Amino acid sequence: MQNDLRRKQMLFTTVLAVIIVVSSAAITLVAQTFSDQTLTSRSLDLISANATQAQMNVDQYFLKVEKVAALLYSDEAYYEFDATDTSIDEYDKLQAEDVIENRIIDLGMMENFCDFAVIYANDESVGWVSQTTKGLFPDDGMYDLFADAIKDDPKSEAWVFGVKGNDDRIYYAKRLNEHAIVMVSFYVSELSDTFAVPESLGEMTVRLVDTDNTIVYSTDPDEVSQQLPAEIDNLVGEDTYSAIYDEENLATVDALGNGWRIICSEPMSILMRDSNALRQRTTLAAVGLIIAAIIIDILMARHFNNQVNSVVDDLSESADSDRMTGLLNKTAFELRVTKDLDGDGDGRTVAFLMCDLDNFKAVNDTLGHNAGDEVIIRMASVLRESFADTGAVIGRIGGDEFAAYWSFEEPDEQPSYERLIYLANKLQNIFNKEFEAERSKSLLSLSSGGVVARAGAFDFETLYTRADNAMYESKNDGKGKSTVRMI
Ligand code: GH3
Ligand code: MG
Repeated sequence: MQNDLRRKQMLFTTVLAVIIVVSSAAITLVAQTFSDQTLTSRSLDLISANATQAQMNVDQYFLKVEKVAALLYSDEAYYEFDATDTSIDEYDKLQAEDVIENRIIDLGMMENFCDFAVIYANDESVGWVSQTTKGLFPDDGMYDLFADAIKDDPKSEAWVFGVKGNDDRIYYAKRLNEHAIVMVSFYVSELSDTFAVPESLGEMTVRLVDTDNTIVYSTDPDEVSQQLPAEIDNLVGEDTYSAIYDEENLATVDALGNGWRIICSEPMSILMRDSNALRQRTTLAAVGLIIAAIIIDILMARHFNNQVNSVVDDLSESADSDRMTGLLNKTAFELRVTKDLDGDGDGRTVAFLMCDLDNFKAVNDTLGHNAGDEVIIRMASVLRESFADTGAVIGRIGGDEFAAYWSFEEPDEQPSYERLIYLANKLQNIFNKEFEAERSKSLLSLSSGGVVARAGAFDFETLYTRADNAMYESKNDGKGKSTVRMI
């Protein structure tokens, strides 16, 4: 029963420990996932807001460029002149160019443009064409390049980046007439302020990409003129407005009026850095709590176990003992002796002593049954006192019948035999002293009989019978004595 209880308790403790671990892990996981999601969506909101602001600023800047260029349509003097027309008188040509140039100077004076000019099909130009831009076309072809860029556009205009490998300026071109194009350019660096990343988004990369996904501007200068990194390209696809993330990156897209896009991105690993530190701390706390809970679980189980054990021990002790004397009852005595006899017999001798009160019936008859009981209880004390500290197993095996058993670490029977004689005599002496009053009235005496044998030579039944025989010899020999022998 004890083993069964112990098994059940073990199971209970284990199940409880598993429940603690699983539920703590689940709660921690849910909390961490929730905090990750909150962090991700808050970061997306923040980055989106920042990107939208940048988009508005850039759009405004681009629109201003387009508007300034469009002002050349305000008068036919600006847009009708054709420098490729060889029929125009040289003086008229110079005058017309003057008018246009003055207009360009007026319009562009307040602006930080690098180029602002009208380019004609013969690559002549009126206005301001920078040395850098001229240098990009050592063999002409400027007009053709921009004409090609605006060719398919419904509004015959184009924003061009990477002109002849240049990566520090953005060009805007718009057809003025059949043989002329307005061309404006400005430094990409003009937009840096617009793309300034707030400190809270310090690790974010902000990019301006053209319609071919070539990077026009990036907070990472090494990326300029490169293609949008594949992982970001795959994430945002053709999106014009989105805030999106996968396991690797978080990104926002904001399209500009000219079809270019502002793409902000941040690796999840960086975004989750704070979260990871938090995660480590919560995991550590959870593990600590789990360990504490399991220790409490085990301590409680052990406490419970000890209580169960002591109850079980009490129960088995009371089941084993004779109720009146507290000595072992016959069954328990036999079990204990048999168990010892079944053990290793090498180098051991055993002693078995039987004793029976003489004329006990007379005590009952003359003094009453209660007095008889009292005698039996006192007899138990006599046995305990006589055999104290000798390792004796003592039992009450009948009404007024008692037995004692010893296992001596002594290979020879003779010393054990002498020891049993000594113990039997000691018992007689203590008995005589205890029951002196009864003995003087010739009411009570004690007969005993004992045997000594090598351990393992005899079973319980034989030892019991032989000791019983020896005891009856004492009875037959006048009672009140003991008979001990080696067998
Ligand atoms: P002998 O000298 O031959 O041993 O005879 P005896 O009078 O002692 O009688 P015997 O040992 O044959 O029987 C024991 C008696 O003890 C029988 C029974 O009435 C009595 N007895 C047995 N158990 C108890 C008990 O628990 N209390 C009391 N008061 N008497 C008991
Ligand atoms: Mg008797």
